[in-house]
Amino acid sequence: MGKIYVIGIGPGDPEMMTGEAGEALRSCEIIAGYKTYTDLIKRYYPDKEYYENGMRGEIERCEKCVEYAISGKRVALICSGDAGIYGMASPLLEVADKMGFDDVEIIPGITAALSGAAELGAPLSHDFCVISLSDLLTPWDLIEKRLRYTAACDLCIVLYNPSSHNRPGHLKKACEILMTVLSPDTACGYVRNIGREGSEKKLCTLSELLSETVDMATTVFIGNSQTEIKRGRMITPRGYKI
Ligand code: SAH
Repeated sequence: MGKIYVIGIGPGDPEMMTGEAGEALRSCEIIAGYKTYTDLIKRYYPDKEYYENGMRGEIERCEKCVEYAISGKRVALICSGDAGIYGMASPLLEVADKMGFDDVEIIPGITAALSGAAELGAPLSHDFCVISLSDLLTPWDLIEKRLRYTAACDLCIVLYNPSSHNRPGHLKKACEILMTVLSPDTACGYVRNIGREGSEKKLCTLSELLSETVDMATTVFIGNSQTEIKRGRMITPRGYKI
């Protein structure tokens, strides 16, 4: 029997991958993943066999990994950021359970909320919550409900999947819902292509965020009522008297 490592490779830059993830990748014969992510690491592991497919091929990818492992191979299933956050760790574990395979190890990575926060300053220094605006697998009504309840308890909010070709208006709708509770002046920011070529970031208010156009490679940060922008950095105070 082989083994499956589900590996979070971080935002993109190999320097932002953990040593443990690098070691596991080196130890595997096959690397499986969504093509965008296998393309990010291929040049660092040129001698590996690759299994890659596109969006919506997730379950097939997991089944293939389990088949390879049952046939005795060591397989790395890679994801951007952390594999447990909107990643492949849970579908792989569900598929492995169904196929009766146990030898799976999950290797954590730096999720976009953390790498993006570091780019912007210190927006997540108090309680925060992460919400995905993707309604591919989650009903939009539930996403709206989560936004409303989160806004009501003054948490910093990180939005993943803020937009896509099919859903260009999701960020605007989310901002409108949040602004029914939050001040339009709430400090916000977003980071695009963290750790990849063409990385960019912007700080703004919630009312300005509403009319920003962002793409799928962007993570959005909405501060709490105490968050401020100082010297171009987003800072959520911990509460110290300074
Ligand atoms: N497992 C990933 C999240 C996958 S969901 C993680 O832990 O980071 C995909 C969403 O993650 C994107 O729509 C975007 O909001 C965010 N994201 C992933 N990589 C990113 C990057 N390099 N730069 C900015 N946002 C990123």
